[in-house]
Amino acid sequence: MFNNKKIFILGMARSGYEAAKLLSDYNNEILVTDMSDQDQNQVKDLEERGAKIVITDNPVPLLDESYDYVIKNPGIKYDNPLVVKAKELGIKVINEVEMSYSFLNKNINIIGVTGSNGKTTTVNLIYKFMTEEKDNVFLGGNIGTPLSNFVRSIEEGSYLVLEISDHQLVDMYNFKTNVSVLTNITPTHLDFHASYDVYKSMKKKIFNHHTKDDIAVINSDDKESINVTSDIESTKYYYGTNNDNKCYFDDKAIYYDNEEVVKLSDIVLKGKHNYQNICAAIIAVKEYGISNEGIRNVLKNFKGVEHRLEFVKEVNGIKFYNDSKATNCVSTNIALNSFKEPTILLLGGTDRGHSFHDLDESISNVKAIVCYGKTKDRIEEYAKEMNIPCYKSNNLKEAFDDVKKIMEKGDVVLLSPACASWDQYKCFEDRGNEFKSLVEEI
Ligand code: ADP
Repeated sequence: MFNNKKIFILGMARSGYEAAKLLSDYNNEILVTDMSDQDQNQVKDLEERGAKIVITDNPVPLLDESYDYVIKNPGIKYDNPLVVKAKELGIKVINEVEMSYSFLNKNINIIGVTGSNGKTTTVNLIYKFMTEEKDNVFLGGNIGTPLSNFVRSIEEGSYLVLEISDHQLVDMYNFKTNVSVLTNITPTHLDFHASYDVYKSMKKKIFNHHTKDDIAVINSDDKESINVTSDIESTKYYYGTNNDNKCYFDDKAIYYDNEEVVKLSDIVLKGKHNYQNICAAIIAVKEYGISNEGIRNVLKNFKGVEHRLEFVKEVNGIKFYNDSKATNCVSTNIALNSFKEPTILLLGGTDRGHSFHDLDESISNVKAIVCYGKTKDRIEEYAKEMNIPCYKSNNLKEAFDDVKKIMEKGDVVLLSPACASWDQYKCFEDRGNEFKSLVEEI
């Protein structure tokens, strides 16, 4: 499919670079454009492979009907002028995963995960469960190394676990999984898609080309997921709180086919949302015969994906959790609902003007709010209105000094800031890493 073709790669980043590298081995004529300067070693590498690299914020004039494909970075919107022109010229627009798919050995097992929330956690759980008992397991998609980097080393009989975002599904046509997990559907990314209906139809593409021999793993607690999958061809397995499900959980344990797999007390991950993610992952890996023991081994140790309600450490009976990825109240509510313990909540960051009263429904266990950053005054006001003791400082380091003064045995200390990090950090990862070092210093 990708031999002797003329290919326009829009957006170099990581996946564009890897795509160009792979395609350069098959006598393709390749043009890569990006609007910002790129790593000079990578540019040199691609040029030595015969690709042309152009840094420009107007790549449109460079595209004409002589091109066979446009491979676009998933973050680029479908109404981007170059994408629009490609479609007018009848040039197929795809992405790096769809392109790499055509290089895959077809005798492998693909597990794909999509959904509005929980993709990364679920995909990591599946990968860890699988690697407990199988050797030839690969992880990719929207996570880690781009698939085109290692697609040719995936041999027959291997397992490929892929996180697939809705942005990626837009430009996927031939891609097909053996097992697809849909974690949930909520109205997010609506700035990217034309409407909520379009967004839902994109999510549904994770089940493309399925027959009854393929498996759909669906969250029975999420009505949208049930509606979207009502007419898919796959064999459907459900998970959630209802004990009719293939996999379900109650307040004691998680069960698969009515057999107890793991007690909740043996799971490091916390929160109903994580029990849902675990159920989804269990159904996916049970298809490949992973044992309850293998699953338990992972869950006893897996602290969560970094910065997502990640258990950091217990010090003197106080548990510390890093949920730096929580940049809005929805995520902070999810985190707060995961604990029954008295909680010291670290809040603060970029001010997007949202009301902190969106936290009211889950704030009852919070014994103190410690706030910092751009939003600190508004948070202090909120705490006053809610009658919750509040400690205000300029930054996370100073805020943590306040935490140390008030924390007591049995508390949870939770960084779940309900704000973006850009007022004081480059990204939420930097904020989470700082929190973890402060915990380590205790
Ligand atoms: P994604 O990859 O889809 O962004 P993550 O696994 O990285 O999802 O989790 C991001 C955040 O989404 C978590 O910190 C949590 O607040 C929330 N979350 C995770 N799993 C779920 C779920 N099953 N349902 C609802 N929210 C979830």
